Amino acid sequence: MNSLAEQKKIRQLTDYISHTLPRPCTIMEVCGTHTMSIARWGIRSLLPPELRLISGPGCPVCVTDTATIAEALALASMPGVIFTCFGDMLRVPAGDQSLAQLRTEGHDIRIVLSPLDALELAVDNPGRQVVFFAVGFETTAPLTAAVAESARMRGVTNFTMLTAHKTMPAAIAALLPGSAVDALLCPGHVAAVTGSEAFAFIPRGLGKPAVVSGFEPLDILVAIAYLVRDLASNKATLTNCYPRVVGGAGNTTALNMLQKVFRPCAAVWRGLGKIADSGLYLRSAYADFDARQRFQIFAADLTDNPACRCGKVLRGEIAPYDCPLFGGACTPERPAGACMVSSEGSCAAAYQYGRSNPYA
Ligand code: SF4
Repeated sequence: MNSLAEQKKIRQLTDYISHTLPRPCTIMEVCGTHTMSIARWGIRSLLPPELRLISGPGCPVCVTDTATIAEALALASMPGVIFTCFGDMLRVPAGDQSLAQLRTEGHDIRIVLSPLDALELAVDNPGRQVVFFAVGFETTAPLTAAVAESARMRGVTNFTMLTAHKTMPAAIAALLPGSAVDALLCPGHVAAVTGSEAFAFIPRGLGKPAVVSGFEPLDILVAIAYLVRDLASNKATLTNCYPRVVGGAGNTTALNMLQKVFRPCAAVWRGLGKIADSGLYLRSAYADFDARQRFQIFAADLTDNPACRCGKVLRGEIAPYDCPLFGGACTPERPAGACMVSSEGSCAAAYQYGRSNPYA
């Protein structure tokens, strides 16, 4: 953001956006990396106050619902199990519990950087059952699929997965109608796998402009300029502003692997509820690696902090600052809700890069 050429480009873009914006408008982003970039680079402060940028359900840790976390807690408590997960999942609160708390009580819960690490752990510990907590969108699901295939090929019998993968298009289709969102910043990482055409239903079916965007400040400002252009001319188009990474048809190798291992299923999203065809479930050929089929899981019925507003934040109905717990009873050090845990959560981004409401 420092070169004179970049500064000039940024000024041109922000001038264009200010002069072209036809009315007060709201743009939603549905990618945790966008959420973080927008907060980190102070993008909101560069835009006219009539243009609101709000975050949607773009953080995979945040959208994993409490009932699924309860399943994870039940599995991680089982004798003989090594439970593995990404680091962020460790601290997501469910009721008054978390995987981190179970770990301090002596349960064998380990952080892995990839499902492949979990599979290798199973190979190295043949006398133990290793469970991997598989969360994430289309970006991470292909790797989970590849690891399931690898486990099958290698005949690993002590490895299973608690799958909670979600797919973005059905969630967007459920969220946008009737919402205050005028236009959508589509997730660049997800689109790299699905292809930009996976989001064509937004202008064609929902009548709202959409742009696939990269993550640099200029990427985001260019994308917003395209959305404002459409809003000003009452058009709804899909523009791929990230062609250096995203093609129209996506990554066919990754998509084929997803298709081979998973089938679409209904999934429950925190804040959005149950959405048809918005999740991925292991096909019957991979049932041996399904923790829900291997183990009898007695998940507790856990209740979240009633003051937590994560659901409204994930639907874009309120900003993190509007939650009564923000910055007080809920901080990244002591999160009261899922959106404060992951660095890609909207509450964590708001806390880290500006603790007051820019639209107040
Ligand atoms: S501030 Fe904390 S409790 Fe409130 S919505 Fe965000 S994560 Fe949930």
